[in-house]
Amino acid sequence: MDTNKGYNECGYCGNKTKLDIVIFHKIETRDEFDSDTYWLILECSVCKNISFAKFTLERT
Ligand SMILES: [Zn+2]
Repeated sequence: MDTNKGYNECGYCGNKTKLDIVIFHKIETRDEFDSDTYWLILECSVCKNISFAKFTLERT
């Protein structure tokens, strides 16, 4: 799973290097949903600001 896709640009300073993943959390969902939701907390290596990201992956 590519967890970095789409989350490698800092919204504060515009840094386009990879952001560090501080917390990676999977939200457990009921079986009737065919996808899983994940929350990421990301820290910019340049300005140290924290960004939040949420994405959904289809179950395979
Ligand atoms: Zn930054």
